[in-house]
Parts: sequence; C-alpha cells; structure tokens
Amino acid sequence: MERTADVVIIGGGIQGASLAYHLAMRGQTDVVVLEKETLASGCSGRTGGMIRQHYSTDLVTEIAKQGRDFFSTFDEVVGGHSGWVQCGLVYMVTEKDREALRHNVDLGRKHGVPTGLIDPSQARDLVPGLNTDGAVAFAFEEDAGYGDGYGSTVAFANRARDLGVTILQGTPAIGLRREGDRITGVLTPKETIGARVVVNAAGPWADRLGRMVGLNLPLKLELIEEAVIRVEAPDTYPIHTPSVYDFVNGLSFRPEGTGHTVVAEGSSYFKGALDPDGYPTKPSDRYIEDVSVRLARAMPRLESGSCRGGWAGLLEGTPDFHPVMGWAPGLEGFVLCYGFSGHGFKEAPVTGRLIAELILDGTPSLDISPLAFERFERGALLRSLYKDDPVMA
Ligand SMILES: Cc1cc2nc3c(=O)[nH]c(=O)nc-3n(C[C@H](O)[C@H](O)[C@H](O)COP(=O)(O)OP(=O)(O)OC[C@H]3O[C@@H](n4cnc5c(N)ncnc54)[C@H](O)[C@@H]3O)c2cc1C
Repeated sequence: MERTADVVIIGGGIQGASLAYHLAMRGQTDVVVLEKETLASGCSGRTGGMIRQHYSTDLVTEIAKQGRDFFSTFDEVVGGHSGWVQCGLVYMVTEKDREALRHNVDLGRKHGVPTGLIDPSQARDLVPGLNTDGAVAFAFEEDAGYGDGYGSTVAFANRARDLGVTILQGTPAIGLRREGDRITGVLTPKETIGARVVVNAAGPWADRLGRMVGLNLPLKLELIEEAVIRVEAPDTYPIHTPSVYDFVNGLSFRPEGTGHTVVAEGSSYFKGALDPDGYPTKPSDRYIEDVSVRLARAMPRLESGSCRGGWAGLLEGTPDFHPVMGWAPGLEGFVLCYGFSGHGFKEAPVTGRLIAELILDGTPSLDISPLAFERFERGALLRSLYKDDPVMA
C-alpha cells in the first residue's frame, strides 16, 4: 500500500524544519520531511547565524523582527539549543550608504525595532577598540544577536518529531508525481509518498526539483566564507560585545565564545560555477589573509589574533536576493520556499510559520505576495537600498 501524508516537505534545513514544527504546533502532524543527507547538512549547518532587523522593505523588516523575537525565547518555547546570544549590532557606513542606513533605521523603528542613529564616539563606546575612520554614519540595533544554525534546525525537527511528524534522513526526493496540473506525491528510492501538498524547501538544490516538473526556478549559487580568528587575551572581546557591520572595510564580525571572533568579508573570491554537491567548505588562504588585514584595520586591538580556521557554505541567491515563497505557478499542490539568499536563518521561525498558514488557512498572517515566483515574470523585483551589497536586502 502506498504511504501518504497530507504534507511532504523536501529539505531538512532550517526552513523545512521550521515549517514542520509550525504545522505540528497547529495540529497537522500528518507530515513527512525528506532529507537526502542529514538535518542541517546544507546551508543551515554552515550559517554565520547573525540575527538583524535592518532591512529595506516593510515585509522583510517585519519577518526579521518577528524572527528575532522568536529566537529570544526559542529554547523555552521549542526546546533544544538555538545558541541565541543577544549582543546588539553596530552599523557603520560610508557616504554612498548613508541614505540606506537612515531609511532602514526609520523602517525598523516603525516596526518596533529598538534601533537608532548614533555618533562615532557612541559606536566606539559600544565596541571598544573599533576604528571608525572613514565612516560617516552609524546606527545601533540594541536587541540584535546571533544563533546556531545546526542547533536551531535540529531543535525544530526534534520537536516536530515529538509531536508526530515523520522525519526521514538519508532519503532523497528523486522525482515528483504529477497528475495533470497537480503534484500528487514524491518519489524516493524506496517508495512513492502520496501527498495533498508538496513543499520545495531544498535550498541550493531547489532548482533541480523545479526541473523535475518543467519549472525554471531562478537560483545562483555564491560562496560565503567565514573565518574564525582567535584573539589570545580572553578578556579582549567579551561575548556580549555588539556585532559590527563595517561597510568601510567590507566586513561583518562578532564575538564567538571566549576570545574568538567570527568574521566574514562582503564579496566572494570564488570564480566559476558552484556545484551544491561539491563546493569548497573551507575558506581559502587568500581569503583568510585578506580578511585578517581588514579586521586589523577595523579593530586594531584584535591584530594579535591568529586564525583558527573557518568554514564556507553556499549562498542560495535569487535574482533580487529575496526568497521565493508561495504556490508554484500552474502546479496545484506545490509550494515554493527557497532562495533565502544569505538571510534565511534569521527569517526561518517566521517564514516556516507563514508557509504553514498558507497551507492550513489559505492566507498567511503577513502578505507574502511580494515574494511570489511570479515577481520575476512581472519584473516586480525587490531590492536592497545598499548600493553594492544586495545581500543586505
Ligand atoms: C557561510 C554562511 C553564512 C550565513 N550567514 C547568515 C547569517 O548571518 N544570517 C542569516 O540569517 N543567514 C545566513 N546565511 C543563510 C542561511 O544559512 C540560509 O539562508 C538558510 O540556512 C537556508 O535554509 P534552507 O532550509 O532554505 O536551506 P538548506 O539549509 O540548504 O536546506 C536544504 C536541505 O534540502 C536538502 N535537499 C536538497 N535536495 C533534496 C532532495 N532532492 N531530497 C531531499 N532533501 C533534499 C539538502 O540536503 C538540505 O539539507 C548564511 C549561509 C552561509 C552558507
């Protein structure tokens, strides 16, 4: 007899796991999550984990705000270990991004984010040792923080499983069953699972699933590298020191544990096509050297740090660096939830809930229509106000 489920979710990253959790919390536990490897083996286990609410559009600002609030009580509400640390976030920009900074701060305040413009001396007080030379405008987001992608994904999945959801790891979706204009199930190497709704939450592999049913899902992969710099004196950079988005030196950095700094540079050195089944998982020597020089400029007191390695992962970018969320065009029963373009960790607690509402209620509590696939055909792309950094979204 064929196995069936009301909802089959393809992808056990943080998006698929959050959706499974939210469906289960609403009482829908007739759900199967298919993960071809292990939970969080894609982008979610390699995330930098920054949680900010500084965005250019109302919709993403609200998603990020609600996402941050969810993370602040994640461990009590969901269980497990989200790794949430509230440390605040300082932004410093050059002239070309002054207006974007001001706009996003105003937008954040409209959505209840405790954020505001600050002066250079306030920035230096918040992040002792920060070199503010070259920056013309500064902002502080008081309740920003960071978390752990692996821990959060597994926590969502474990709770969903406890509530009755089936999670099949080591189980790839190798085909989608189509009857007319409807997707009615998913093929795995062992069986076909019939479903009322199938969700594509396959991260960097989402376009491959689209091709199985003749859907051209735009997706461009980039490499994001993160270097972990260890600073020898443990008191130099306490864990609750605010993170920094430094547009002067093209860096973001934050403390990690005692005496460590996680630092990422804005653009990638990797040239050529990236294969999600085989990409560099470590930062290159050239990257580490460059990022260390930039960090020493931004924070001279971290100059004595030595690099203790790092990791690299894929940015699953859409043409406008915003996710695709909603029903697939022309295919009933098929939901798209992919392309989070480097900011899907912080958004996941809310985007998972919104897709659960779409499936259960028909209408999500936030209007996600600006994120529909059809925006590419209509030319209604969203955009970041930051001039050279579309990932700021
Ligand atoms: C280095 C790095 C730094 C980042 N920094 C931040 C940050 O600071 N803040 C932030 O918010 N975001 C950040 N991101 C982005 C964020 O991590 C991603 O947007 C998010 O994890 C995407 O989650 P996902 O569930 O959509 O995709 P994934 O985590 O990639 O999950 C997709 C899953 O689908 C599975 N899958 C694929 N195809 C199939 C199939 N056919 N059958 C079954 N399973 C399948 C894969 O194995 C994978 O586990 C960063 C990402 C990276 C790589």
